Amino acid sequence: MSAAIIDGKAFAAALRARVAAAVPGFAAATGRVPGLAVVLVGEDPASAVYVKSKGKMTAEAGMAGFEHRLPAETSQADLLALVDRLNADGAVDGILVQLPLPKHIDEAAVIARIDPAKDVDGFTPVNAGRLATGLEAMVPCTPLGCLMLLKDRLGSLAGLDAVVIGRSNIVGKPMAQLLLGESCTVTIAHSRTRDLADVVRRADIVVAAVGRPNMVPGDWLKPGATVIDVGINRVDAGEGKTRLVGDVDFASAAQVAGAITPVPGGVGPMTIAVLLRNTLVAAHRRAGVLLAD
Ligand code: NDP
Repeated sequence: MSAAIIDGKAFAAALRARVAAAVPGFAAATGRVPGLAVVLVGEDPASAVYVKSKGKMTAEAGMAGFEHRLPAETSQADLLALVDRLNADGAVDGILVQLPLPKHIDEAAVIARIDPAKDVDGFTPVNAGRLATGLEAMVPCTPLGCLMLLKDRLGSLAGLDAVVIGRSNIVGKPMAQLLLGESCTVTIAHSRTRDLADVVRRADIVVAAVGRPNMVPGDWLKPGATVIDVGINRVDAGEGKTRLVGDVDFASAAQVAGAITPVPGGVGPMTIAVLLRNTLVAAHRRAGVLLAD
């Protein structure tokens, strides 16, 4: 058996196009375009690449991008003051503070300072609580992107057994909440889970968000399972080169799964597309304008 490949790259491009198509209507109703502020503290090279690409895609969607690059030695007080200014700025609908922050800054305190209405990453305790209690929330981009791919592939998820491997606040926990919201029977696995292979083998849906290259082999999977691989791991490819692999061993998993996301080209491109979608949604909610679906 050979799994269908879930093309996250194509899905993300279509989502970005839908977002871009909605911007002129918002502008006509409000006299301005949606705005996304991205804050980068320090020189982390991976973060710099993400921020650059977020800026480019924000512009391509016809939205306003506000980039704030601060030196690594920026104090927590100065960063909080910037967040306060962005919270108060009417042209800013979404605020994203790129993680990780330098060690001397308390990440949780900075995240909690973001106005929940502008929290397009969905990381504030208010939005996490709203998601968990079934209220309208800003939902973290990566898990929401995974859910979109799953629903596109499977339609209704009700009654399916889902296993999420990983329990981070950014991916695993909100992913589990979203699947619960779709009436899946959800298991959250983590580093202390016993007999992970047996747990995974029961699942119709497997979401792997661990950060360990090729950790899930094909023989852990239930035949026909839908596999969403969130992991992004850079491994040695010989001759001084590196390549990206997921948390799932793609070659063996594709023999057993019904459908699977590749790495790269699966979940990765969804994250920025959903960020733009969340910014559009935040802009409409803040302006009190209805967003046509
Ligand atoms: P974290 O490091 O925050 O969390 C990893 C989770 O995996 C933890 O809950 C940990 O368990 C669990 N874990 C670690 N080892 C094992 C193991 N041997 N068996 C079972 N579970 C284990 O990572 P993130 O959630 O931030 O990211 C996960 C992966 O997703 C990374 O590869 C990251 O690069 C990628 N990612 C991709 C994104 C995208 O856009 N596609 C966006 C965000 C992340 P415990 O809690 O017990 O320590």
